[in-house]
Amino acid sequence: LIDLAEQFKGRGRKQGGANLEWREKPVEERLSYSLVKGIVDFIEVDIEEVRQVKDKPLEVIEGPLMDGMNVVGDLFGAGKMFLPQVVKSARVMKKAVAYLIPHIEEEKRRSGEGGPAGKVLMATVKGDVHDIGKNIVGVVLGCNNFEVIDLGVMVPAGKILDTAIEKGVDVIGLSGLITPSLDEMVDVAVEMERRGMKLPLLIGGATTSRVHTAVKIAPRYAGGTIHVLDASRSVPVVQKLISEEFRGDFIQAYKYEYETLAEQHGQRQSTKRYISYEEAAANSFAVDWDKYTAPKPVRGGQTMLRNFPIETLVEYIDWTPFFRTWELHGRYPAILEDKVVGEQATSLFADANKMLQQIIDRKLLKAHGVCGIWSANRAGRDDVEVYRGEGRDQVRTTFHFLRQQNEKSTGQPNYSLADFIAPTGHPDYLGGFAVTAGDGLGKMVADFEADHDDYKSIMAKALADRLAEAFAEYLHEYVRKTLWGYAKTENLEKELLIREKYQGIRPAPGYPACPDHTEKELLFDLLKVEESIGVSLTESYAMWPASSVSGFYFSHPESRYFGLGKIGEDQVADYARRKGMTIAEMERWLSPNLNYEPD
Ligand code: SAH
Repeated sequence: LIDLAEQFKGRGRKQGGANLEWREKPVEERLSYSLVKGIVDFIEVDIEEVRQVKDKPLEVIEGPLMDGMNVVGDLFGAGKMFLPQVVKSARVMKKAVAYLIPHIEEEKRRSGEGGPAGKVLMATVKGDVHDIGKNIVGVVLGCNNFEVIDLGVMVPAGKILDTAIEKGVDVIGLSGLITPSLDEMVDVAVEMERRGMKLPLLIGGATTSRVHTAVKIAPRYAGGTIHVLDASRSVPVVQKLISEEFRGDFIQAYKYEYETLAEQHGQRQSTKRYISYEEAAANSFAVDWDKYTAPKPVRGGQTMLRNFPIETLVEYIDWTPFFRTWELHGRYPAILEDKVVGEQATSLFADANKMLQQIIDRKLLKAHGVCGIWSANRAGRDDVEVYRGEGRDQVRTTFHFLRQQNEKSTGQPNYSLADFIAPTGHPDYLGGFAVTAGDGLGKMVADFEADHDDYKSIMAKALADRLAEAFAEYLHEYVRKTLWGYAKTENLEKELLIREKYQGIRPAPGYPACPDHTEKELLFDLLKVEESIGVSLTESYAMWPASSVSGFYFSHPESRYFGLGKIGEDQVADYARRKGMTIAEMERWLSPNLNYEPD
């Protein structure tokens, strides 16, 4: 060690000295520097120094801290700073504010004044568990001096609205990722109208869209509804909404825009042509089953992988969506060299890898997976029966699939996933799986949040999501090569795995080919997912913990992903009957996929 140390002699000091020159500057400049660079190390010392010279602690926030954050906000708005930096700056702000709060409370008690620019209540709606995007918006709003009341995930409408009234908020923001949340958001809007509320309603999250907001939500609520595309848009929108001067015109402009959009959308819809369910079934994707022998699993039945090594999963991570989460756009690995975001992407990637290493070393997250491959056959038009054994005489579960009903050009089939499974008389198999990397995430996030560290908390969630997806990729490969074993010699590079260049698919219930989330319940029962790996379903069939993935396995070489699109009343009625649900219930679950307006 002494020999080694000789080689490095002098280097550290030189570097450290250069880095710390900014510490010589006046304290207000140092604060601004810390904020813009996202450095937390000196914040409390500096804040204390400023506090000593100010009359009121709030002036520290309103003066140097807000000045610093304004620089950050301007750079972000101008596209010169990126989301990860903003979240890091926000972490500095949060730590500073946390330090000042006791002093501010004390001051408030004395003078009875002070307050933020405006209050925003945010919540992920009932049945949904995803909150990375919502947390990012919260952080970005928070650094613009808005008070954010975050009710967390799975929040029922009543609680959202009661809290909004009780706390006197200025704006409500709803978030959601899965499609059932769209309906839940409509319900919140309807309830706001019923209560005669006037607060602007913001809509955001992966499944939401301008069109859905315009067509389904905005018409239900007179108080004003606005779809917010991403975190960077949230600030100007909320600024307008809390301003007495601009609010009215701003909401009016959106109402007008959405009415026009809804009208255009209606016209576009009415030009689409649909065929009957019967015709669609007659135009199915036809496999000549007499000429096909389905691969028999090497090891059928259920396989469980508990405490699967995270380090193995790291190699299977698809990093591109990780950067997207942080609003850095571009493909990995090229993004690391990108002219505009390359530097940020590289620094973010380094932080991610550092945390991954800690996750591995300290065993902070555990990954568990379960999968099964069962003898199965297509039954009727679009059901797939799973049997108790190779005898195929005892049905264990029946899965229900849906078929495209839009009119196709000649030669194009109306797909259903059931098309890829052989009918009775031809032995075939269906697989299913569920994986999670969320075991331990709650604890990690709670620790970071207690330390006012949103950057790390969002990072942990983003990484757990990546690990869950990586596990799904790994497990699928293991199934193809080993358990089902129909691709024993497959040897695909990671890049080709991510592009899914292998035989077979793993469609996920709730995704475009099989958008009905309720089928997840059958899959979860069959795999005993809750007992085996501790993943459960919410009332909207979101998986809890959030960093979980599930789906079916189809092995047929021609099986492929497609989008169901919209379907007709005839199929909905048939589907409801097959599933033993009422048509109204079915229409609710399938509402994004109906080609008609249910009564
Ligand atoms: N590499 C990506 C994988 C997730 S997205 C990541 O790490 O984020 C791709 C997955 O979404 C597929 O494996 C499948 O499970 C699901 N999927 C994609 N298109 C689908 C469709 N049309 N129908 C059903 N599931 C689909």
